[in-house]
Amino acid sequence: MPAESTPLEVKTKRKPSDKMIISIASGKGGTGKTLVATNLALSLGDVQLIDCDVEEPNSNIFIKAKMEGNEEVRMIVPEIDKEKCNFCGKCADFCAYNALAVVPTNVLVFPELCHSCGGCELVCPKGAISWKERIIGKVEQGRKENLDFCHGLLKVGEIMTIPVIKVLKKKVDKNKDVILDSPPGTSCPVIETISGSDYCLLVTEPTLFGLHDLKLAVEVVRHLKISFGVIINRDGIGDERVESYCKKEGIEVLMKIPHSEKIAELYSRGIPFIEEMPEWKEKFVSLFNNLKNEART
Ligand code: SF4
Ligand code: SF4
Repeated sequence: MPAESTPLEVKTKRKPSDKMIISIASGKGGTGKTLVATNLALSLGDVQLIDCDVEEPNSNIFIKAKMEGNEEVRMIVPEIDKEKCNFCGKCADFCAYNALAVVPTNVLVFPELCHSCGGCELVCPKGAISWKERIIGKVEQGRKENLDFCHGLLKVGEIMTIPVIKVLKKKVDKNKDVILDSPPGTSCPVIETISGSDYCLLVTEPTLFGLHDLKLAVEVVRHLKISFGVIINRDGIGDERVESYCKKEGIEVLMKIPHSEKIAELYSRGIPFIEEMPEWKEKFVSLFNNLKNEART
């Protein structure tokens, strides 16, 4: 395979001990992950915020960073030489992602399904497979005062989020504290995002659904051996089950953000609530400083 495939091998850069990578995750969408990530980043100021929710990046609605540069994210997909191909079907049989279909006189390639694993080339007895690049999205970088910001944008119709997240994670600045806004859920894009983090903040709601999804997220961070704590958003809408679960499991509830018409209204207008409720800025700074102090001990 050509050298261009290397983005798939990129790992998160480790940071010096006085800098942290904090990921913000939640078992499902709509729990307030971006609310926490953006208000935390703006409260701290001199950090790097990377929005890894590449299907729906909306952190910059609140950050309002001036974007200064972008980079295309490419993948390679097979190209079939019909002069060499004997339509044996070995490539399609091998492909676990159904990205190839062999018919009597043609090999159909479905680029959106291809994971660029290179296996089809290895099994082809005729050397009929070569590679071509395709653009699946882009990564943009910008800044607001001393806050560095990056986000990834998957092209419409594309489904391969992980290569875009990998390129985003290459942008981690080892000289800054970094906040990673994860995609929602507990599947591969989340694991890709939070892997290598020093700490994971799990944002949940005090409802039965919130509890269900929180349990799944806890399983993931425990499996990855990442230190974590919980932030309860819209505190007051549900019951005590999330807190009881956290107590029983020895999980620290680090912050409770109340169910508040004002916060919801500001969110709907793209305004970070720390701007109008400055007492919360101190709470986010204090939360972050406590996490750093804990990491040092
Ligand atoms: S394995 Fe090679 S020769 Fe066989 S169908 Fe695929 S591309 Fe053609
Ligand atoms: S590179 Fe891998 S995923 Fe893509 S078509 Fe070949 S076998 Fe399938």
